[in-house]
Amino acid sequence: MTNPPMRAAIVPVTPLQQNCTILWCTATMKAAIVDPGGDIDKVQAALTHHGLTAEKILLTHGHIDHAGEAKPLAEALGVPIEGPHEADRFWLARLDEDGRNYGIRGVVFEPDRWLVEGDTVSIGDLNLDVYETPGHTPGHVIFHHAPSKFAQVGDVLFQGSIGRTDFPLGNHKQLIESIVTKLWPLGDDTSFIPGHGGASTFAHERQHNMFVSDRALAA
Ligand SMILES: [Zn+2]
Ligand SMILES: [Zn+2]
Repeated sequence: MTNPPMRAAIVPVTPLQQNCTILWCTATMKAAIVDPGGDIDKVQAALTHHGLTAEKILLTHGHIDHAGEAKPLAEALGVPIEGPHEADRFWLARLDEDGRNYGIRGVVFEPDRWLVEGDTVSIGDLNLDVYETPGHTPGHVIFHHAPSKFAQVGDVLFQGSIGRTDFPLGNHKQLIESIVTKLWPLGDDTSFIPGHGGASTFAHERQHNMFVSDRALAA
């Protein structure tokens, strides 16, 4: 597309270098901030830099590096928080405790809207589809913008790796199932931004990812 209706900018936040991602509608210049785990001054500077009006905060899951400062940012911007799925409520409830352990500010909250499979979240004129992708956490969701062939996948899939499953209620088998039954059907030509590290495409991961390549899963 020469003039894509959606654009994305990554702001790495927290000592864990989490990819807080600003997604915006180029027609309205309205933006959603996905996973503002911390460093909200940097996030707000990026909004200003791109000339954007914040419309909402979206969360893929409840981990500290993704959700730690969602509440203070929501209050500063006067916007609602949507996501993750309610099964991650216990993660959001321990953000202050986890924050102390990681040396990151964590503020406990409940989102304005819990998300479920089949939900749509809007950003300006854009609509993104919500998929439930448990495994890394039980309430993890991803956001897909079909016209852009783009997905924001949090800690489900990374360039060359997959999410950890050694946390409470993590489940490796479930994570693989989420990748194979929710991500791959969106199409090989889907590009994605993960929660950490560089962007990639599903085609690249199906060929090269040692955990979920077609060859690895056939073995
Ligand atoms: Zn995580
Ligand atoms: Zn993470």
